[in-house]
Amino acid sequence: MRIAIVGAGSIGLAVAWRAAQAGAEVVVHDPDPGSGASRVAAGMIAPVTEAHYGEEALGPFMAESADAWPGFARELEAASGLQVGFRDVPTLVVGVEDGDRAEIERQAELYRFTARNVEALSPRAARKVEPLLSHRVRGGVLAPEDRAVDPRAVHTALLAAVERAGVMLRCKGVDDLGALDADQVVIAAGCGSAEFIGAGGGALRGAESALWTLPVRTVRGVVLRLRAVGAQPVPRTTVRGYVKGHSVYIVTRENGEVVVGATSDERGFDRLTGTAGAVHDLLRRSIELVPEIAEYHLEEVSVGFRPGTPDNLPLIGRLDERTIAATGHYRNGIALIPATAAAVAALLGGEEGAAPAAFDPLRFGRTRAGASPDPDLNAAGGATTQEEDS
Ligand SMILES: Cc1cc2nc3c(=O)[nH]c(=O)nc-3n(C[C@H](O)[C@H](O)[C@H](O)COP(=O)(O)OP(=O)(O)OC[C@H]3O[C@@H](n4cnc5c(N)ncnc54)[C@H](O)[C@@H]3O)c2cc1C
Repeated sequence: MRIAIVGAGSIGLAVAWRAAQAGAEVVVHDPDPGSGASRVAAGMIAPVTEAHYGEEALGPFMAESADAWPGFARELEAASGLQVGFRDVPTLVVGVEDGDRAEIERQAELYRFTARNVEALSPRAARKVEPLLSHRVRGGVLAPEDRAVDPRAVHTALLAAVERAGVMLRCKGVDDLGALDADQVVIAAGCGSAEFIGAGGGALRGAESALWTLPVRTVRGVVLRLRAVGAQPVPRTTVRGYVKGHSVYIVTRENGEVVVGATSDERGFDRLTGTAGAVHDLLRRSIELVPEIAEYHLEEVSVGFRPGTPDNLPLIGRLDERTIAATGHYRNGIALIPATAAAVAALLGGEEGAAPAAFDPLRFGRTRAGASPDPDLNAAGGATTQEEDS
């Protein structure tokens, strides 16, 4: 079988890798592989601390993917010969004021619905788990099963693994799916997934031969990369917290990189506006939780675009007999790599219903290309933009 994959982010590459392993002839199309969210992300694999009200349908798939990550990381490292920075360290969620503490308690109720391990911690117990926490921290919760991976290392390893598996990479954009010479097409173009219009639209053509598009929206996020200098200590856990009602997270890599994130807004593909304020807010909040961060070297400010959907759930499934969607992963596209790749590989293998029904890419009906988004769709689910996000 000949498979064309549109998009060489981590989702497209992981699908390509699985499809090639199953014996398919795979071509991945992307004008700039790795230019999307996959190399900006923090890398949290967080079925507990990424649980949000209104997104309960995501829970089992997040859990399945998180559980698959250790084996997926080992297999990818063996296939690529490269490390992916998977870290089995717990996540702490802490607050500095009474209001923050109340917010964490509210969140913890939802965390407990994930049926995974969650422990309430006193301030002293929290500092025992993470000695770098500020003395102002008022306690919080521990999610021992939320983990993290280095998304840049994962993307680099996937590139190497697909090459070794015989996948061809074509550095050219696609706008007309109908023009692709393939038996099956997978749309994995992140925030570009809404844009296959105006040039035939091939497989997205509806019964009445109209053109249709996927309901993917762009949710911008700023994230910082810092580095401890010399013998400076770094957090040994992932720290998430609320500071005067605003959230922030701190993810540490084995190599000493410390990622602080992230903002969230819907200003489209704007890489510049508002970054100064974002840097200021993220640094101030992270330093309130972990004062040592003020001593680190600020290496990078990056801006990425999360592919969101009207109900914040991904779009994974068949659009028609030739086309599959694997996009819309919003805040959780790194966490969901293993489960998405497995589900799409099964769909390609003819297994109907391999992806959860809640992720059906046609659940919003067919959206006419070029039409303004349906306001009712945007009101559905929890699509409201939060000020800070993962
Ligand atoms: C600041 C920030 C922090 C995040 N933190 C986390 C986190 O901690 N944990 C987590 O799980 N997720 C996180 N995410 C979300 C995660 O990064 C995304 O959900 C995930 O990377 C989406 O991967 P993707 O492969 O679908 O898309 P992308 O990585 O965006 O890749 C899409 C690719 O498609 C290509 N493309 C676009 N249009 C076309 C076209 N017409 N033809 C061909 N190719 C095309 C692009 O060039 C790009 O390479 C974060 C995101 C951001 C922005």
